[in-house]
Amino acid sequence: MTLKLSYNLVKLPLLTPFTTSFGTQVDRVAYVFTLESDGITAYSESTTDVDPFYSYEDNITAMHLIRDYLSKEISDLPTPQAFMERVEHIKGHNMAKATVEMLLWDYHSKSSGISLHKYLGKSKGYADVGISIGMLEEDKLVPTIMNAVNKGYKRIKLKISKGKETKILSTARLSFPDITLSADANCDYRLEDIETLQSIDQYNLAYLEQPLGHDDIIDHASLRQTLSTPICLDEAVTSPDLAREAFQIDAVDIVNIKPGRVGGLYNSLKIAEIVQNYGGHAWVGGMLETGIGRAFNIALASNHLIDMPGDTSPNEKYFSKDIVRNVFKMDKGTIAPFESPGIGVVVDTEYLAMMSIESGEIPI
Ligand SMILES: [Mg+2]
Repeated sequence: MTLKLSYNLVKLPLLTPFTTSFGTQVDRVAYVFTLESDGITAYSESTTDVDPFYSYEDNITAMHLIRDYLSKEISDLPTPQAFMERVEHIKGHNMAKATVEMLLWDYHSKSSGISLHKYLGKSKGYADVGISIGMLEEDKLVPTIMNAVNKGYKRIKLKISKGKETKILSTARLSFPDITLSADANCDYRLEDIETLQSIDQYNLAYLEQPLGHDDIIDHASLRQTLSTPICLDEAVTSPDLAREAFQIDAVDIVNIKPGRVGGLYNSLKIAEIVQNYGGHAWVGGMLETGIGRAFNIALASNHLIDMPGDTSPNEKYFSKDIVRNVFKMDKGTIAPFESPGIGVVVDTEYLAMMSIESGEIPI
């Protein structure tokens, strides 16, 4: 058996800068991995970024973990579950683990000749799609929402930050009283901001996402008791155990599942099951992935356990040109996963090489 693991660090400019409570991103700089074995070529993408702002991981820590630890565990091409068991003694570094885990999902679904969304279990055959809108200059908010509504997105999510929430949400609701609207605070508030957070109830949001600390569930439980708006957790749910604990202490109604954050698709499916068992709801988030990372997200979002629209916009929202030739198209607020084996993307290898600022091979 021949086995080759290689990587490209790609830098793709974003069509429009994306602003959240922790900063503005102007391009996507991502490690893309390629695993070749006996005629099968599998891909994955690390959801880490240049900066450790969403979580403590960044591109450099992910590469360190993958090169120095995780690549040593895949010489016999284990199943994703077996791989996760092997690397359990490595604490944290979920995004690095997920990158390798998803490479194995793509490899095994391709070697079985099955599309990933079916390989993952019972599929709806489509993913419901919402949009995440970064913080914008005031005059751009209403036209941007209008454009998204006209395109058919099933849910509009607005990024907010402390002190800007009232302006953003009142402007949006005044022009769009009836749309399904939510807000994502990316951990920008503390429990002492409870009056501000309670004022958000008047906007009739589908949910308020991760208002408090990135590693908190206790304060979220306190906050949830005082709000009528459902609480969605993102950053704080980094494992199936934490998902269970969050529901046990009534800290959460909805979970935004990002495969990178939770260590991959195996844990994502476990979390989706836990959410359903507790009567909660789940959707699939995004990290401004290229077409490779996005294909994994769409496959997961098509699973029957995912019951709310995700942040899985077609790639054209983010990049003028993607590193895959077959980009997703949205039809009436849904995207169908690819039916060819694995993630089903056709990588534009020339463009991938052209947009790479670094590339190389990792010995296994
Ligand atoms: Mg979020």
